[in-house]
Amino acid sequence: MLPIAQQVLESHNVFAGAFVDRSGERRKDSDWLAEAAVSEEARFVPVWGRRCLVAGDPPHAQLLKRSQVDQFVDEDKLVFLGLFRNQPAFAVAIHEDAPEPFADLGEFQGLRFLGTMLPLDEANLVAHARALVLWHASQQYCGICGSASIPEAGGNSRRCINEQCGRQIFPRTDPAVIVLVTHNERCLLGRQSNWPEHRYSTIAGFVEPGESLEDAVRREVFEETNIRVGSVNYHSSQPWPFPSALMLGFIAEATTMAIKLNDGELEDAQWFTREQLQSEFPKLPFRISIARRLVDHWITLGEID
Ligand SMILES: [Zn+2]
Repeated sequence: MLPIAQQVLESHNVFAGAFVDRSGERRKDSDWLAEAAVSEEARFVPVWGRRCLVAGDPPHAQLLKRSQVDQFVDEDKLVFLGLFRNQPAFAVAIHEDAPEPFADLGEFQGLRFLGTMLPLDEANLVAHARALVLWHASQQYCGICGSASIPEAGGNSRRCINEQCGRQIFPRTDPAVIVLVTHNERCLLGRQSNWPEHRYSTIAGFVEPGESLEDAVRREVFEETNIRVGSVNYHSSQPWPFPSALMLGFIAEATTMAIKLNDGELEDAQWFTREQLQSEFPKLPFRISIARRLVDHWITLGEID
């Protein structure tokens, strides 16, 4: 048996895990893609609006065959995700204004719900599919010249159709830092006014242009709580496809203790002991979040001491 802390570190954050072999070399092989997309092995992840199809109890992602999704497939807009369980996997976008399809095969659910229910490999797959489908929907036009853009590389990039421009557009991921700040036997959690009652979480915010991750950690913590942070240690990361963030998790040490809510983003912030974190108050972040994993990890470190 691994020590508990090691087990925690080696488990996956929900939505993460390289369960899809992204097969980058195949994205540009249009012959291979065309053949794969009509093969018996091909599996399709339907994304209706922002939701993914599941069935069963406990739920599993419904991966459909080509014959089941034919009416929704546009060959020019296929999104190749990679090989999943050694089978070519594609995402299929279905407009949210269309009636809910595949009622006989399951129901469409939001990703936050699915993150808590699906096996880790399926959570990884549907998050990947949903992120790319939403990215395509938001990138119909070139941001430089305003011409239309079209998918290429098996739906893993787009290109402006204006030959004078021809800009290549790649899916973006927005880095955000999320940090558990500690000071000896206490850690710092805050809450926003629109959260469920008594729920507290770690400090988080997007990385700004020109910042390192450590800079962003120190700035966010200071802006939100007036706490100064010394050492900043990386923990793990989590794709957070709502729609395209990458949460970069840290545990940092505070050099000051006096809290002041500088920027109004939080309605409260407090220092909590491990004992408090395992009591009725505060309520901890949702289990699928990296915030919860950072908190759980820190609690575990106390048990080992
Ligand atoms: Zn252009």
